[in-house]
Amino acid sequence: AQTVIKRALLSVSDKSGLADLGKALAARGVELISTGGTARALRDAGLEVRDVSDLTGFPEMMDGRVKTLHPTVHGGLLALRDNDEHVAAMKEHDIGAIDLVVVNLYPFEATVAKGAERAEIIENIDIGGPSMVRSAAKNHGFVTIMTDAADYAELLQELDAHDGATSDAFRIRMAGKAYARTAAYDSAIASWFAFGDAFTNPLGADALKATPFPDTMPMAFKREDELRYGENPHQSAAIYVPQVTGTRGVAQAAQLQGKALSYNNLNDADAALELVAEFAGGEPAVVIVKHANPCGVAQGVSLIEAWNGALQCDSVSAFGGIVAVNTELDGATAEAIASIFTEVVIAPKVSAEARAVFAKKKNLRILECGTLPDPRRDGFAMKTIAGGMLIQSRDNGAVSMDDLKVVTKREPTAQELKDCLFAWTVARHVKSNAIVYAKDGATAGIGAGQMNRRDSARIAAIKAKEAAETYDWPSARTVGSAVASDAFFPFADGLISAAEAGATAVIQPGGSIRDDEVIAAADEAGLAMVFTGMRHFRH
Ligand code: 5GP
Repeated sequence: AQTVIKRALLSVSDKSGLADLGKALAARGVELISTGGTARALRDAGLEVRDVSDLTGFPEMMDGRVKTLHPTVHGGLLALRDNDEHVAAMKEHDIGAIDLVVVNLYPFEATVAKGAERAEIIENIDIGGPSMVRSAAKNHGFVTIMTDAADYAELLQELDAHDGATSDAFRIRMAGKAYARTAAYDSAIASWFAFGDAFTNPLGADALKATPFPDTMPMAFKREDELRYGENPHQSAAIYVPQVTGTRGVAQAAQLQGKALSYNNLNDADAALELVAEFAGGEPAVVIVKHANPCGVAQGVSLIEAWNGALQCDSVSAFGGIVAVNTELDGATAEAIASIFTEVVIAPKVSAEARAVFAKKKNLRILECGTLPDPRRDGFAMKTIAGGMLIQSRDNGAVSMDDLKVVTKREPTAQELKDCLFAWTVARHVKSNAIVYAKDGATAGIGAGQMNRRDSARIAAIKAKEAAETYDWPSARTVGSAVASDAFFPFADGLISAAEAGATAVIQPGGSIRDDEVIAAADEAGLAMVFTGMRHFRH
């Protein structure tokens, strides 16, 4: 734990709150060290301050480009207080420990934003400030780093609560904040170099006020690959991965064989993997995706059974599809997948037998992803619009059995409820308006991306009918199915379409002003219906 704070180095461009902080620190017996302008401001407030130049034995020079960049400062920040060699070095070179650093940086972003000339912008790239911030934050075991005036009050509370020291938790939190600040600062500089005078930080200023969105969004991504082309051949494309990531997904999957992955391959494989990950640890599951929408999803006692269930939902669309599975891919399932034209297969693990099967299909892209991504994880989803970018938290919300509210006279049977939840799980991964019929752990019909809900219900039913004809079944699998709607039915017509297709149970968020009408229609048709209270638009 940190010992009592005895010396503080203050160097701030934005001097708000500085005088009060200086007084509060001085009152607690803290020695103040400061750079030119900051020292002046503190003296103006009647405080005793030691100049950094006094400490370093060097004047501040080169228009302030070199002020605190000195071993006396950085040694005092970086020395480990419990390391004998470090302590000896401090003694030998007459370096005093600095326990607290208060820094905010030259206003680079504001200088760009006000339309300054290049020379002025360059002069507002802070060098010594970020260096001190990074040194102090690295040594957060002993040093407290403050980069935000909004935290000054909390610092004083800490000092009072811990006899003039700060808690480990506080120093760690402030260190994380400090690195986020220097990262955002450097991102802004890098963006300016990239976009030149046309640079306006699309996420700057007040764009992202609400937590958990930082004022500026550091985009610390590195290019992993250039792709052959984008969504269409006349578009160019590349894939970027975050420099620091705790999540493994399609972007980190290993390609075992096949042609280079295209933009669409990656986008579709992502959609397939995110959906199949909903079934992690459950019965074997297969997802077939086309154009980022699932066209067949099923679980089974074996993977091959799940494959057959998924394929039979819409075997026409499955042609040229992207297949994801939730478990190790076996030889028999690989054989079945390889028997139709498939673009990409992604699995947590691909068995030796499956690899041997796929080896005969040289172009087929096989991805092995190790673990499945956690569908409930936090994260951001980003989308560009003209002149900007939209960022939202991931749709990681989930409903459990306890959240479901039966709204009809009839309660769903246990099997209906199971099918409802399966259909609901799939529906959240289908482009809105989404209608998904499911029966016995397999999708019976999927209606995606329509501009009204009734059409989605009808299209899904048509597909189910075609499947019944293809496989010579006595009736479509929608008969006796559960149907899920990603958002409420605004009118009864969509629900009536589903009932006509043979659905006996319905799962939907509820919340329409016409819920009463929709519930009455469900009762009329003898349906059981549950409300989830949560909607899953996906566009
Ligand atoms: P002051 O107004 O105290 O003269 O300057 C405060 C500013 O100087 C702070 O924003 C701080 O980050 C920055 N700063 C501190 N040391 C150095 C240095 O050695 N070089 C540069 N370029 N800036 C520094």
